[in-house]
Order: sequence, then structure tokens, then C-alpha cells
Amino acid sequence: MTRMSRARVLLLNAALGPLDYRVPQGMHVEPGSIVVAPLGPRQLLGVVWEPDAMPSDAEVGDNRLRNLVTVADVAPLGAALRRLVEWTAAYYLAPPAAVLRMALASTSALEGARMVVEYRATGTVPPRLTPQRTQAMERIGDRQGLIRELATVAGVSDGVIRGLVKAGAIEAVPADIDSPYPVPDPAHAPPALSTDQRAAADRLATDVRARAFAPTLLDGVTGSGKTEVYFEAVAAAIREGRQTLVLLPEIALTEPFLQRFHARFGCEPVAWHSGLRSTQRRRAWRAIASGEALVTVGARSALFLPYRDLALIVVDEAHETSFKQEEGVHYHARDVAVMRGRFEACPVVLASATPAIETRQQVEIGRYAELKLPSRFGLAQMPAIDAIDLIATPPERGRWLSPPLVAALAETLERGDQSLLFLNRRGYAPLTLCRTCGHRFQCPNCTAWMVEHRLIRRLTCHHCGHAEPTPRVCPECRGEDTLVACGPGVERIADEVAALFPQARVAVVTSDTIWSPARAAEFVGRMDAGEIDVVVGTQLVTKGYHFPNLTLVGVVDADLGLEGGDLRAAERTFQQVRQVSGRAGRGEKPGRVFIQTHQPGARVMQALVTGDADAFYAAETDARREAGAPPFGRYAAIVVSSEDQGSALETARTIGRAAPEMDGCHVYGPAPAPLAMLRGRHRYRLLVHARRALDVQDVIREWLGALDWPSKVRVSVDVDPYSFL
Ligand code: ADP
Ligand code: ZN
Repeated sequence: MTRMSRARVLLLNAALGPLDYRVPQGMHVEPGSIVVAPLGPRQLLGVVWEPDAMPSDAEVGDNRLRNLVTVADVAPLGAALRRLVEWTAAYYLAPPAAVLRMALASTSALEGARMVVEYRATGTVPPRLTPQRTQAMERIGDRQGLIRELATVAGVSDGVIRGLVKAGAIEAVPADIDSPYPVPDPAHAPPALSTDQRAAADRLATDVRARAFAPTLLDGVTGSGKTEVYFEAVAAAIREGRQTLVLLPEIALTEPFLQRFHARFGCEPVAWHSGLRSTQRRRAWRAIASGEALVTVGARSALFLPYRDLALIVVDEAHETSFKQEEGVHYHARDVAVMRGRFEACPVVLASATPAIETRQQVEIGRYAELKLPSRFGLAQMPAIDAIDLIATPPERGRWLSPPLVAALAETLERGDQSLLFLNRRGYAPLTLCRTCGHRFQCPNCTAWMVEHRLIRRLTCHHCGHAEPTPRVCPECRGEDTLVACGPGVERIADEVAALFPQARVAVVTSDTIWSPARAAEFVGRMDAGEIDVVVGTQLVTKGYHFPNLTLVGVVDADLGLEGGDLRAAERTFQQVRQVSGRAGRGEKPGRVFIQTHQPGARVMQALVTGDADAFYAAETDARREAGAPPFGRYAAIVVSSEDQGSALETARTIGRAAPEMDGCHVYGPAPAPLAMLRGRHRYRLLVHARRALDVQDVIREWLGALDWPSKVRVSVDVDPYSFL
């Protein structure tokens, strides 16, 4: 390759286009090289790009170019990742730099290999043996570590260890701070697969060895062994020494996944999520970039990491809407994962018991293959689902659990089995009001009620995090002890269970109580040990977990998801209730599910009770086709926001007036967004509805590109929106 003397660089600054630099003598760069470049008085991180793929609008003559400062001592970003950055930026109408930032998610990783000084015993006996020194030498054995670590192990002060170093009994050794990861062993504990499972596993493993793009929907009921099946494809990739990425919708699911992976492959995979410390991020990033990390499991942000040699991508619980990123770059990780598979030329497995209509449609038109696992593994049966009509058998006044559900709970407790009550509402009550004057507590920054959290005695806003102590006095009428909680949250349901069954051990599981993989591990441990009788939880407990003694699931309010009525409301309710039902009866004991609803006749409730998913999906799909809704048409939302309501409205109107008039594209709004105020910003919304064939991104780019607005106004575009707030 001829030496590049001039380089186009995409800097990590979303406001800038690509800029050209001179490559100084003695420096070697190529497309993908990670570099530091000067910008005014500052220095910025960036990546060298092919000039054709990233046109610059300000061509500068060679003589006016500034020199690149350094090039990072890591492998250049691969071509497939560069194409993914371009595609994601173009599809989601985001600055390429904002996408690139997700690939360079650890700046410390770019600082090159780093050595630290560690210590270990030399084998010589120190001349002056005090009891402390003896204890230290015994406990340290052949361990190696920092002085602090050895002191902790030995139960002595740092000074004792230093003394031993001086005396020659312990020596300093240079060590890499990024200690290597263990290598998973594909032969560690392979399961005996059923015939269906074997067929599916073989197909996926063959796809891995074929090294070609191959998207597959792995469609199997909960408990059918989807994980066991795709693990065989992972094993095939490991055997070839190549990498796998497994995406999970939620970091709370990481822990059970790590345990299962460990059981199958003898060690844990590399985990990537927002909870990592910066040294852990660095170590993971470097191992991923070098190819040493053979299997990475992570939340959606793991999608943009610089895998050196990707052989397989798995998106588990692929229907989950939490794969949709709602801030910054509004991307859908499931869809981007498929694109990454295309650029990397590797198979992509979307695993789900309740696939999204969008995914089913891709199967329908032949773009994705489908593998089915129709039954639960072994003796486990799908649980029976019954609807409880809340009008016919209502709960007692001020209670939320109806008599049939209470009776089922009593029976389950009696048998010594575990129960799960599902309600997708954190906190104690979603609304607090004053009984005397009717004052309602609203967030000062958002159009939202404050949610009471009784455990921490606070009212909090679930949109912006604003929190204040729960007052005793109404701020409006000054009445004392006049505040009443309206509606239930999980904490309130837990109180109700405790009142009904004082002997039952109840656990509340939400993102408030389980915020880290470690907390999730603790919860799993307590469930496995039988220390919990009743779990009251949000969607956090609806998936991934496998508790053999959990035999009763109660859905406290199945109608909740239907409120608001966006286009996916019924589908989401179906998915969520099926998922949570899937927690029941996963062992040899059969499970039962009760769903409390005011509309037992609704199509989605009927489908849940009869289990006829196909009929439900067919009807939903027809309705979407009729309405030209996704996947048969497209939406894009344009949200205009500002702290100043007038400027937000004015900009929204300007954008609305300039709306393109063309066939196959209709613009609704502007109208105040349902969340008319969020984090102190006033919001207006336009909704673009377009025919599938139309390049809606192009239309929007041209439309907004021709307009200007004040800098305090933010205009964000959400292509394929999932949230209609
Ligand atoms: P899914 O991901 O489809 O919900 P899982 O992969 O979690 O299903 O499997 C459900 C349970 O059945 C797990 O405990 C799993 O270990 C077990 N299982 C599934 N297939 C097998 C098999 N072939 N051999 C042994 N255990 C299996
Ligand atoms: Zn708020």
C-alpha cells in the first residue's frame, strides 16, 4: 500500500463534517486508523475515513493542512464497522460522529498497552521472620498482585509487604493491566438436544461455518430451549476461533445469562454494559478489538464495538422494545444488528417467543429464514392461562387483587411453591392527590404525575428523575395528612400481599431494587434457595429467568399496556403477558396464569387465553396493512423542543409550513407532544407517514436542511419511532 500523506478524518464532534489533515513523516495511517488531530487550540479524537465515502464540503490545499498528532496503538476500525457507521447515520438521520462515538466507547483503551508493577514471592525466606511476615508469606503463596492486593490477602498492612520487598522475599514484576480473558470451551458441557433442537442447532452452526450473511428468526415458545440451541452456534464460532456478540435487552438479564454460559462453556463471556468501571471497559474494548474476546454479551451499546472477526450475532428476546434507543442516536439495535451482520457477512439470529410483526413480515417475504421450536423442553408444559373479569369479580374496595387470584395465591403458598405478580408500574402509587382540595402532584419539569415511592418516602418523576420528600401537608390548601395515593404500583401490591398473607416472604423486583447484575444475582440466589414466596415485579422479571418452583403468575392489570393506544399497544400487551406467563411452570410442576382485565372479550385477551398466537398476529398484521402502518409503511417523528415555549412552537410551525407535498407522504402536526414538557423543555411534534417505497430519510434531510432555527431550539428526528410520547 502506498503511504498516505493526506488523510480525511471523521472527528468525534457531531457539529463538524470530516476534515483533512497531513500525515507527518514517519506516521502510518490507513482507513479506520484512530488518530488524534488538532482543531483550533484543542486536540480531538477521530478516525481516518475513505474520502469517497465521506465527502467534505471544504477541500483544503495540501499546503494549508495541519499535521495529525498521533495514531492510536490499536487495530484500525474494520471496513464493515465503517460501513455500519455510515449506514446508521444515514438511516437514522444522525451525525456520523455521534454513531462513531459509540464505537470508541473507551478512550482509555486507545492509550496503548499499559504495564503496571505487580509483586510476587521470590521463594527466598526473609532474614527477620516476624509473626506478621510469616503470616503474609503463607497467605500470599504463589499469588501475584499489587501491593495493596497482596496486603489484603495476607491480612497485613502495606508496610509489611514493602518490608518484604526490601528484604528480597517479594519481588516486583511488570504485568499487563489488561489480563487475558479465559477461553470458553465448546466441549465443556454440551446438552443432549431434542430432535427439534438438534435440527435447529445444526442449521445455525452450518450458517456460522458458511461465513455469509444469513438472518434467522429462532421462534420458540418460552422454555423451548432457544438459548441451548443458539449456544451450539456460539460453540461453532468458538471452534473456529472467531467472535460472537449476544445482545440482551436489559442488563438485569446479564447475570442469569452469565451463569448459563458458564455452565455450558466453563467460563464467563466478556460482558459489556453501562455498569462497567472504566478499567473494565478498557480491558473489554481491547480484547474485542484484538479478537481475543471470543464471546461478548451486552446491552445494545455493544453493537458498535470494533469486533475484529465477527462470526455470529444473536439478538435474544428480539421483540423487546428496549432495543430501541430513545436518546441521542435513535436507533433500533435489532435492525442495526441485522445490518451489521450484512456488512460483516455473518449470520444473525433473532431469538424470541413472541416475534415482532416487523420480524414476522421479513420471514413472510422470504428475507429471513425461520426455525421453530414448537414445544417446551422435557416435561415442562405451557401454563394454562385464564382471564379474570374484574367487573364480574372485582377486588375488595381499596385492593387490587381479585378473589380468584387471592385464592390461587393461597393455594400456591400452601403448596410451598413460588408466585409472581406482574404490574408494570414502579413505586407505590402513580398519582397522589389531596383529598380536601384535589391538588395533584405534578413534576415541575415534565407533563407527568409524580410517583410515590413509599420505601424511600419520596415523590419522583419517572421521566426526569426529579424527586422530593413526600410532604405531610398539602402545598395548596395546607391541609395536614390529606394526601391520598391513587392506583397501584408494585410496592402497594406487595403491601396487599403482606396484609393478606403475613407469613409470606415477599420481594419487590424493579429497576429500583435491582439496578446491577450483582443485585440480580442476589435475587436469583434467593429465589433458587426458596427464600422468596411471592415476587411482585415490573417487566424486569418477565423474561430470561428460569425458576422451576414458580408455578403461579398473576397479571395485576393486563389493560395497562392498552392505554394510550399507540399502534403497537395490543401487540406489546400480547408479548408482555406471554413473556411473563412463560415464567410459570418451567420445571416439572405445571404452571397457572391469571390475567386481570376489564375487557376479557378484547381480541388480545382472547388470544392470550386460547393461546392462538397465529390468529392474533394475522388480525394485527391485517390491521397494520390496512392502515399503512409499519412494516407496510413508515413513520418518522420530528420533535421540536426548547426551554422557551414560543420558540419551540414557532420553529415547529416553520417546519410544518415547509412540509413536502408529494404522493405517498403525509405530514401530521405540529401538535403539542403527549409529553408536552419534558425535563423543562416544551415539545411539539410532527409525524411523517410515508409509503414504504419512499426514501423518507432523503425527504426529511432535504426538508429540514433548507430551514434554520434558533440555537436554543432542538430538532430531533426519530425514524421508525416506538415511543409516541
Ligand atoms: P428459552 O430460551 O426458549 O426460554 P431455555 O433455553 O431457557 O428456553 O430453556 C429452558 C430450560 O430448559 C432451561 O433450564 C434449559 O437449560 C433447559 N433445556 C432446554 N433444552 C435442554 C436440553 N436439550 N437439555 C437440557 N436442558 C435443556
Ligand atoms: Zn420530570
